[in-house]
Amino acid sequence: MSDTKQNIIKTISKTPLPAMFKPFYGGLGSILFMHKVVASKDPNKIRIPLNDANEVSISYLEELILYFKKKGYDIISLEDLPKRLNHASKDAKKFVIFTFDDGYKDNLTLAYPIFKKHQVPMTVYITNCFPNHSAKLWWYLLEDLVMEQEEISVEIANRKQTYSLSSFSQKEAAFHELRELFIGLSPEKQNKVIDALAQAYGKDLQQYVKTESLSWTEIKELSKDPLVTLGAHTLNHVTLNTLSKEDFYHETLESKKEISEKIGKEVRHFAYPFGTSKEVNKREVEWLGKSEAFTTATTTRIGNIFPKHKNHLWALPRIQVLGTWEGTQILEAYISGVVPALKNKFKKVVTL
Ligand SMILES: [Zn+2]
Repeated sequence: MSDTKQNIIKTISKTPLPAMFKPFYGGLGSILFMHKVVASKDPNKIRIPLNDANEVSISYLEELILYFKKKGYDIISLEDLPKRLNHASKDAKKFVIFTFDDGYKDNLTLAYPIFKKHQVPMTVYITNCFPNHSAKLWWYLLEDLVMEQEEISVEIANRKQTYSLSSFSQKEAAFHELRELFIGLSPEKQNKVIDALAQAYGKDLQQYVKTESLSWTEIKELSKDPLVTLGAHTLNHVTLNTLSKEDFYHETLESKKEISEKIGKEVRHFAYPFGTSKEVNKREVEWLGKSEAFTTATTTRIGNIFPKHKNHLWALPRIQVLGTWEGTQILEAYISGVVPALKNKFKKVVTL
């Protein structure tokens, strides 16, 4: 998100607009999502904002849980969402659902104890290549490279591009440009480019996933607690709209199958990797629905949950909690619906 957009949202959050929008755009509740959780943020470490925002501190996470409890929200499980939508009443308390994407180790070591302490549910979407240690966490590789190097060269589609990285703004711009390029590539091409990059700069790509990912044993441990729902997030965190139908079903259904086998119970929830209009569209949602493999599927389209979503259970919008937020004012601007309304041209029920 650009600084301008962030400043606009910050400004809006301080006006009466969130309170005014909430009765109309707040819906029944919200599904929140996060990725990594960290013990604390290091204020002295310069980070690429995008990676930094994807990491939420445990103190902030706890602040959010306490905030929702204080405001009288029901913190519910994804398992209970369909029931909640089928019996939606105007007087019901609002709900919030906490979800975590990808399968980071800290979801167990740092986040889970907080959910346990407050006896509230959480969902973790597992990308199988995390516990299988074949994931290439290229967003951390890319961050390390742009922060460490003065210049990097990357070859994509036989075109060599060189980025000068002497200032922080150049580093950030290069990170964003390369990230966009990587996400747009087919899985084979993406792997090739990332492997070449790691090799050229002497980086051990596997080290990132070994340190950061939940193991299958840890996933099984998490699954034993009824407070935890596990979901699938594809085998390889692929850009789904670049895939053939056969590959799409392989990535989604095999992901479910492997996790279900490992934990000894059926996985019924799914999150589309990336999940914006650039990576998932009508075709993918229809394919997923037709498979009947999942009860719900979430995107990263921004929006709250309305009764009408009971007919769109495979295209549920979410709100990302950013680790760079302070306090609950910005979050309130999202869950009130004012930010989603502006983002979606005042459309209330966001599906795709
Ligand atoms: Zn993801």
